[in-house]
Amino acid sequence: MESKGTISWNFLKDIADTLDSYRIRLLIDAKNEIISSAIYDEEQYYQILLQMIDVERMKYSLFNYLNTEENHNFKSLKQFSKQNSIDIKKTLSFLELLRNERLIKVEYIHNNNDTTEGNSSDLTIKDLSIRSLQLIPSEVKSIYEPVKVVYETNNCSGCGLCAGICPVNCINIYNGFGKLDEDKCIRCGLCYYFCPRTYLPVNLLNMTQKDTSKLENFPKIGYYLEVYSARSKIKEISKVCQDGGISSTCLYFLFERNEIDIALGAKMSRTPWRPEPILIKNKEDILKTAGTKYVNNPTLSLLNELNKNSSKIAVVGVPCMMQALLKSEIYNIGIPSLNQVEYRIGIFCMESFSYESLLKICETLSVDINNVRKTDINKGKFFVYTHKGEDLSIPIKEISHLAREDCEICFDLTSESADISIGSIGAPSGWNTVIVRTPKGKQLFDGLVKNNLIEFKKITEVQPGLPMVEKIANSKRNKCSKHIAKKEGENKRTPNY
Ligand SMILES: Cc1cc2nc3c(=O)[nH]c(=O)nc-3n(C[C@H](O)[C@H](O)[C@H](O)COP(=O)(O)OP(=O)(O)OC[C@H]3O[C@@H](n4cnc5c(N)ncnc54)[C@H](O)[C@@H]3O)c2cc1C
Ligand code: SF4
Ligand code: SF4
Ligand code: SF4
Repeated sequence: MESKGTISWNFLKDIADTLDSYRIRLLIDAKNEIISSAIYDEEQYYQILLQMIDVERMKYSLFNYLNTEENHNFKSLKQFSKQNSIDIKKTLSFLELLRNERLIKVEYIHNNNDTTEGNSSDLTIKDLSIRSLQLIPSEVKSIYEPVKVVYETNNCSGCGLCAGICPVNCINIYNGFGKLDEDKCIRCGLCYYFCPRTYLPVNLLNMTQKDTSKLENFPKIGYYLEVYSARSKIKEISKVCQDGGISSTCLYFLFERNEIDIALGAKMSRTPWRPEPILIKNKEDILKTAGTKYVNNPTLSLLNELNKNSSKIAVVGVPCMMQALLKSEIYNIGIPSLNQVEYRIGIFCMESFSYESLLKICETLSVDINNVRKTDINKGKFFVYTHKGEDLSIPIKEISHLAREDCEICFDLTSESADISIGSIGAPSGWNTVIVRTPKGKQLFDGLVKNNLIEFKKITEVQPGLPMVEKIANSKRNKCSKHIAKKEGENKRTPNY
């Protein structure tokens, strides 16, 4: 792609007209609003615009290729990739965009001769069936909606990414719910493009994690390399962490080694047990974030503070945040902060609560929120430990109606899109289950071991171990499928997974 130095403004407008892309036209028309909002400077604005032009150009090039015949398959996509010298995963990402814009139909063809009857997760993927709808794009071209539709249909996970990348800073996520300033919004659709609850190509996320070009089935807890049970040896961390302190120890190690300059996480705000996002700058800050807050925290909203300087970033967050980050990596259009994310450190998550729901749980247990020392979900119960030394609990079943409705359509328990995933399910008390997923995650885990920062065992050496993680991950998936089917039955909007 040419740089802005060699192309004129009129030339850009001509490209937008040729591509007939609303998204590009809106980005061009709103140049002044974007620059004056100061989230991106002029150079960064051009970088984003040019990369978006590239995406749109390749997307329509694939569309035209698919329009040459009515039916195509995975082999056709490989051919397109070869002709255009691009990775098949890139081609699949354009295919997903076209599918999401309803310009083509895509179905996965499964081999079902090797399955246990009725268990769809055992099906193996054989091929793709791609059907061109022979449409004229200019007649059906979607205008990208802002993510307001995601908030209004209770599909928003509250990850904060939309607020973190909006070029005119017109989104605010508070208490897990988004609000959009319609007067400021320029309808560029960038929030829609990156949001994990608009469309999320799950198979492509797994292929990217494994770095494979093949269509294949992935484990029920996502692709991984190794699984361990581990706990921190750092005393200050062990004293304040939620389980085994591996999340905090990862950050400690990365700061120590100058592998990162900044990390994103959740600290307690002035209101007890209401978290707020924090830019973690040093080891002291890590201790401020230790411990789980079960109330939603829009961690990724702070990305908009990280475009100015070049830094190396780690993000600790729940599965929806890891999905948002990996999707952004796949659909990269040069957002500076996103390109600086070096490590995705995922934690497990079954559900989160609104602050009001947490207050209701405390009320049910007759405990003042100011007296709460620690909260935990374990063995089917929500525990509240108080400063006065009380251990109170309530079965999750009795409070599940208080969980965020948006979490019901979340299928991922174990942060499948992270480099390394950390939770408590499967591990003995005071230990973490650690799922190493990518070479980067492996390097990080090996670094903790080599530097004697953690104790660890193979997951097969502990009880209840991986079978328990898989069982609960599967039950979350099934619950999610049921909720999605119910919403679809009621003609309500759902994410396109
Ligand atoms: C809402 C929620 C639900 C969870 N549900 C489960 C579950 O069902 N099963 C399970 O095994 N594990 C669950 N976890 C993860 C578990 O509670 C621990 O976070 C995990 O085991 C890591 O433990 P640790 O000792 O390494 O964490 P620590 O070293 O104490 O570090 C905790 C990290 O979590 C981050 N964090 C805290 N609260 C939030 C938040 N609200 N949003 C985003 N990040 C946050 C902090 O920034 C910090 O970096 C959940 C976590 C959250 C936030
Ligand atoms: S899921 Fe994340 S990106 Fe999507 S609307 Fe909600 S906060 Fe924004
Ligand atoms: S809210 Fe979404 S559509 Fe509106 S300006 Fe921000 S990123 Fe663009
Ligand atoms: S259940 Fe899913 S959507 Fe809800 S907070 Fe956890 S990861 Fe996010």
